[in-house]
Amino acid sequence: VTHKPSDAVPDTALDADVAVIGCGVAGLGAAVSIAEEAGDGVRVCVLERSSKEERGGNSRWSGAHLRLADEYTLAPDFVEDMVRFSRGLSDRAYIERLAERVPETMDWLGSLGARFRRLPRTTFLTKARPRVVPVGGCVSLVDILARRAEELGVRFEYETAAVKLLVDDAGRVSGVRVRQGGQLRDLRARIVVIASGGFEGNPEMITQYLGPGAGMLEPVSPGGRNNKGEGIRMALEIGARPSGEWGSFHASPTDQRSSQPEPSIMVFPHGILVNRLGERFVDEGADTADEQNDIVARAIWRQPDQIAYAIFDHKLLSVPYYQDGIWSDRRPVEAESLTALAEALGIDSEGLCSTVAAFNADITSTPFDGTRLDGKKTRSIRPPKSNWAQAIDEPPFLAYPMMCRIVFTYGGIATTADAAVLSNDGDVIDGLLAAGECTGLYYHKYPGATSVLRSLVYGRIAGQTAARALAGGAVAMQS
Ligand SMILES: Cc1cc2nc3c(=O)[nH]c(=O)nc-3n(C[C@H](O)[C@H](O)[C@H](O)COP(=O)(O)OP(=O)(O)OC[C@H]3O[C@@H](n4cnc5c(N)ncnc54)[C@H](O)[C@@H]3O)c2cc1C
Repeated sequence: VTHKPSDAVPDTALDADVAVIGCGVAGLGAAVSIAEEAGDGVRVCVLERSSKEERGGNSRWSGAHLRLADEYTLAPDFVEDMVRFSRGLSDRAYIERLAERVPETMDWLGSLGARFRRLPRTTFLTKARPRVVPVGGCVSLVDILARRAEELGVRFEYETAAVKLLVDDAGRVSGVRVRQGGQLRDLRARIVVIASGGFEGNPEMITQYLGPGAGMLEPVSPGGRNNKGEGIRMALEIGARPSGEWGSFHASPTDQRSSQPEPSIMVFPHGILVNRLGERFVDEGADTADEQNDIVARAIWRQPDQIAYAIFDHKLLSVPYYQDGIWSDRRPVEAESLTALAEALGIDSEGLCSTVAAFNADITSTPFDGTRLDGKKTRSIRPPKSNWAQAIDEPPFLAYPMMCRIVFTYGGIATTADAAVLSNDGDVIDGLLAAGECTGLYYHKYPGATSVLRSLVYGRIAGQTAARALAGGAVAMQS
């Protein structure tokens, strides 16, 4: 199929060897790697929906926790955790390549000036796996990569949204149609790299794939609003294979009252979560907060009016570093009795009081230990609380109204471990690569602190695959 509509203006000035869609860490990593490895004369163009000032997509706002023990060492069981969390559905070969390429990618980022440090503590008061972060946050990686791309002569087209892939008569991708300044333009390129994020910014797609009511989900940061899923859609339109769990997403349990980016409340394992009826609905202590916060956030989303309340008593204040688990700018609602707390929250007071009474009466005598999975659990109530079950009986009582916010969607495009987009028939689509959130990797439960890593590593791999293809004069890329 060749898309040559009469309303699109052919624009030779925009032609490039490689067009990269999206200016997050995946797109920037690809653009820099192509420009470095393919050498002089190779024309790379980055297309970005936002302005230059807002560039960086979700990456710009990201905490960028990396699932690493130190800069070059993966956290224990990195591959096994990722496969296990997906219940065996994520592509093991893809994850193994990710793991294998982490040290080289970190080294390369270091050579560009990025610095990293291990976090002694995180927002997760009890955690299963260590975390490393870039000094200056993920926005520093965006700035470092964008500056390097500019030095290398990569052309940036801001306020330009890719809307459709161009495909020649042989089925090879030959460019991309963009909307720029209200006009459609066709940009011809030998290779297109899709790195335009998920579809968390598109209520229509969210409702289509996540179900009724999902259109009310808010992205956890302003960057997510620009990720409207066109990159995924345009690939599916030409026969790309879908991958990842389309009906799910990475979610964050956040303070419903706060409008700041990512106002997470990660201390929920130290209290209970109730809905508007005052009823519990999830095992708050099933696992450490780093390993189950997205399951808990999605459970909150499924409650009446998509709201829940994290309830604590005064003992929360004795949990070491509890403030680290609260990213909201809003103070908790506070009251001297549970009845007064329910009234202040506007929830069912009888429901809350009877839930707390049943919960308090059902707790084992195992000693409490906030620093590890302590096995202090409930005996028979449903849902159970499997760890950190302490009576809620010491005023003042505290509460945070909680809502689920969407970090990114799981459904996306399947690629090989060389970042070449796979077709529904199992071969690769000539001239098309993809990296980052737009690729479908996750199922069931998000293995925390792996999305920036996969975006960085596979952005780099996509760039290297493109550079190899350009050097060989071919654009067909096999895994
Ligand atoms: C608040 C927050 C905290 C997070 N914390 C962590 C964490 O601690 N650890 C972790 O691993 N992950 C974390 N994540 C997730 C992670 O940051 C992202 O999944 C990752 O950065 C995505 O990178 P990307 O390059 O694929 O996409 P993005 O960074 O989202 O980049 C996509 C770009 O494509 C552009 N775009 C979209 N559509 C088009 C189009 N049609 N045409 C042109 N341009 C387009 C967008 O404007 C955007 O700039 C967090 C995310 C958020 C929002």
